[in-house]
Amino acid sequence: MLDIAALPKVLLHDHLDGGLRPETIISLAQQCGHSLPTTDPHALGLWFQEAADSGSLVRYLETFTHTVAVMQTRDALMRVAREAVEDLAADGVIYAELRWAPEQHLLSGLALDEAVIAVRDGIAQGVAAAAGQNRMIAVNQLITAMRHADRWREIAELAVAHGDDGVVGFDIAGAEAGFPADRFPDVWQYLADESFPVTIHAGEADGVASIATAVRRGHALRIGHGVRILDDIAFRDDGASFGRIAAWVRDRQLVLELCPSSNLQTGAASSIAEHGISKLRDLGFAVTINTDNRLMSATSVSREMELLVNEAGWGERDLLNATLTAARSAFISFDERSELVEKILSFSDHRPADTRRYLP
Ligand SMILES: [Zn+2]
Repeated sequence: MLDIAALPKVLLHDHLDGGLRPETIISLAQQCGHSLPTTDPHALGLWFQEAADSGSLVRYLETFTHTVAVMQTRDALMRVAREAVEDLAADGVIYAELRWAPEQHLLSGLALDEAVIAVRDGIAQGVAAAAGQNRMIAVNQLITAMRHADRWREIAELAVAHGDDGVVGFDIAGAEAGFPADRFPDVWQYLADESFPVTIHAGEADGVASIATAVRRGHALRIGHGVRILDDIAFRDDGASFGRIAAWVRDRQLVLELCPSSNLQTGAASSIAEHGISKLRDLGFAVTINTDNRLMSATSVSREMELLVNEAGWGERDLLNATLTAARSAFISFDERSELVEKILSFSDHRPADTRRYLP
């Protein structure tokens, strides 16, 4: 079987405020006077997992009040970004896009621009620290606006303004039901006019209509989660028939940023074995494997892959294909994406010959 730890991995969907080390939360909370459920690192890690295990997206999102509370200064943002990069590099990730919502990090007086620069600088430190340990990784930011708030346009302009600072895309996240992606249609037109890439959380807590809006109104190139696209497919004995939006997403190969463990915790899936990612893979959708929130799910890209192997019967070919799909759909230049693909293929060159034929 594939050496998952050694496989060069690509991560497209990971929240900066969902991936802190418990020790770091405790240390930052002491500095800013924020009180936590416990100050024992192990117990705090478990607290986050248990709170996130409640089966409700709303309850899951409550865990972020603590992580966001301790990420309100330049130093704190830099540290969290640096450590995230180091942790991903240690997991064998060679390219990642970290997403976060700057509007939630202004409580201590940071300006939006300053917050983005702090994360940029922290990422640079993390990349350098990883390189010092002979781990090569590249990391960019995705800037998120909160669905329920009304700052989408301002945040979209922030993302575009920092296009030269390693911000490679725009996203909306948070409460999906009741806050449709077409609430502020001008935002998507603005981003389209700027030729700025978009990914949208959709089809996680809400259904097919939410995915359709993300694709048709938001011009999303990738869908965060998107697992509910299955609701637009009718399964019969002689095969599957696709609704309009499911056919569009599959035939155009819009990328689904699937997050198996996270979906279990929010109730969007009942088990890894039953998770829609396997069915979507079989139907030819462009599936990728993501962590969403490493702290809340106590996970890593490697762990998500191992779960799919052990509980859903995924094989070497599946993992390589999902990794190549992620590399091909990163919001970076074609040349950079080609380099990632080459690294993954050259890793697979060292695999037995029968795996090579699966690859393009
Ligand atoms: Zn997410």
